[in-house]
Amino acid sequence: MTGMTSSARPLLNRRLAEFGTTIFAEMSALALRTGSVNLGQGFPDTDGPEEVREAAVKALRDGRGNQYPPGPGVPELRTAIAAHQRRRYGLTLDPDTEVLVTAGATEAIAASLLALLEPGDEVVALEPYYDSYAACIALAGATRVPVTLRPREGRFHLDLDKLRDAVTDRTRLLLINTPHNPTGTVLTREELSVIAALAVERDLLVVTDEVYEHLVHDDAEHVPLSTFPGMRDRTVTLSSAGKTFSFTGWKVGWVTGTPELVTAVRSAKQYLTYVSAGPFQYAVAEALALPDTYFDAFRADMLAKRDLLAAGLTEAGFAVYRPAGTYFVTADIRPLGETDGIAFCRALPERAGVVAIPNAVFYDHREAGAPFVRFAFCKRTEVLADAAERLRNAFAR
Ligand code: PMP
Ligand code: GLN
Repeated sequence: MTGMTSSARPLLNRRLAEFGTTIFAEMSALALRTGSVNLGQGFPDTDGPEEVREAAVKALRDGRGNQYPPGPGVPELRTAIAAHQRRRYGLTLDPDTEVLVTAGATEAIAASLLALLEPGDEVVALEPYYDSYAACIALAGATRVPVTLRPREGRFHLDLDKLRDAVTDRTRLLLINTPHNPTGTVLTREELSVIAALAVERDLLVVTDEVYEHLVHDDAEHVPLSTFPGMRDRTVTLSSAGKTFSFTGWKVGWVTGTPELVTAVRSAKQYLTYVSAGPFQYAVAEALALPDTYFDAFRADMLAKRDLLAAGLTEAGFAVYRPAGTYFVTADIRPLGETDGIAFCRALPERAGVVAIPNAVFYDHREAGAPFVRFAFCKRTEVLADAAERLRNAFAR
């Protein structure tokens, strides 16, 4: 196949032509092919809690969810999501009208953007951005307007003046992600309050991707954007069980917001998958009700892994941005005498037997992301230690 028909028209439509294969698939395939330690695609190498897995098995055996579940998600899960939002953040949601279960956060992103955007709308998004944002904005016929997070004093910062300048009369929506993939930045309460005030002032919708809500480190704090004044009526909040419970393959995500917003997103979602993951929905309902000790232990475990990998990268000679959230470390390759992260990541399996993700692929302004590389630390301690040793052997002087 050449990608062309006899009429010489490309098979892939113009909206998707620029995107190609996602970096995650490319890099995981590279890791397999070269036998490298895969610190690229973000997925844990151990499964989540045994009782949650058993709850999925039991649901399967009991015949719960083996046939199409209800379109909005099974009531048990919607109730559990609402209870989680109340317990963690004091938010009150009606499980019947303000919660929608999706096929991972990926479908929540797609359905939200397809539902809320008209062709020609502009979407202001933080750059670097998670790769599906750009593709889904394009599928909706809208235009992305990136605002670049810039490194300063060990953290990637959002320039709030630049954010304000990016908003035009065509802007329909702000697409926010905190804790932020790939930089690990957790937006502060002060930053979020400025974003919220801007959304209210310019009457914008906000889609906020909070899939790493439970992965905040040190004294960082995750504050949902929907809790700020004026935000409840304009915010679509997305999250997912994949990251919080270490079951990324289950693809159970959700959307919360007002009945009007959730109904709009459901209108798109029903024609994407209609429903998904029946038995897993019951298991995730149980997971969300786990005691705080689960969430605390998960966080502590990830924090130790972060510190292990960050130390290894530092010893190997990288300049490390210690993330306040997520399970990714961004490292600067310039101290190694390198400048091109894409070339660096392509060569890394050969040089060190490790796979990482070049942050540049998450930028429109590629030069701004060129020297940065993302390593995932959601791996077993011995795997991280092995990767650190490989990197030290390859690069430390
Ligand atoms: N948003 C962000 C910021 C992510 O990193 C990911 C990957 N987990 C997703 C959305 C997609 O989540 P899911 O696997 O639940 O579709
Ligand atoms: N969210 C994961 C990451 O950033 C990957 C998810 C995917 O493969 N689409 O690595």
